[in-house]
Amino acid sequence: MARRKKIYEGKAKILYEGPEPGTIVQYFKDDTTAFNAQKKEVIEGKGVLNNRLSELFMTGLSQIGVPTHFIKSLNMREQLVRNCEIIPLEIIVRNFAAGTISARLGIDEGTQLPRPIVEYCYKDDSLGDPLVTEEHIAAFGWASQQEMDDILNLALRVNDFLSGMMLAVGIRLIDFKIEIGRVYDGDFMRLVVADEISPDSCRLWDIDTGQKLDKDVFRQNLGNLTDAYTEVASRLGLMPKNTKQNATTSE
Ligand code: 5GP
Repeated sequence: MARRKKIYEGKAKILYEGPEPGTIVQYFKDDTTAFNAQKKEVIEGKGVLNNRLSELFMTGLSQIGVPTHFIKSLNMREQLVRNCEIIPLEIIVRNFAAGTISARLGIDEGTQLPRPIVEYCYKDDSLGDPLVTEEHIAAFGWASQQEMDDILNLALRVNDFLSGMMLAVGIRLIDFKIEIGRVYDGDFMRLVVADEISPDSCRLWDIDTGQKLDKDVFRQNLGNLTDAYTEVASRLGLMPKNTKQNATTSE
């Protein structure tokens, strides 16, 4: 059997060359890291859940006209995506204070922000993904002014979509991170939401109890991470209630 070509291996995913030019196979690993990979664990079933959840969010976004890299699901751990040139920024949207904004500005976790706040971090693990301003982005040429306008617009549309989807199942979208890529179609270039959208890259709190249903469960040793992600998947209708515990065994 021919071995497929690995293009890149990150902390939570592996990218392989896709079957056609311009496509990539995105494989979701069970590897779980936090604090710039200082904390690491393999959590069985996490990759399966993130693959399924990311597919759900990406397909929903395309249905409302937000372009994404997602093409189709291939199997429990893999999806076919458009190859794109990732803009080296993490785009963070915050609705409620938590994590680094709470630490940086001394705002109590859970405080509702006056409006969604969009932040940009430079994607570089060796620097710890530092927060940057639009001045840095323009000066270093990471994205053009037109792209920044489009990125802001995309980020806010993703926020409205995800907030509504979560609210409908009793979950508060505290914040999230997305990545944006450039896709080239002949002479044209367009921006798409790329990478993944999953509980690894969002903060999701139960609206009534405040229970954390995202990667903070791992970061802060709050319990079983797959149980939390399975709860999100189950509320979103991705698994029948009585097979919740089978997320790790149904591969
Ligand atoms: P914070 O800046 O508070 O650490 O993170 C804000 C949001 O962005 C959180 O939902 C967090 O999970 C997400 N986020 C920030 N950096 C990363 C990253 O490097 N990888 C992933 N998967 N999510 C991130």
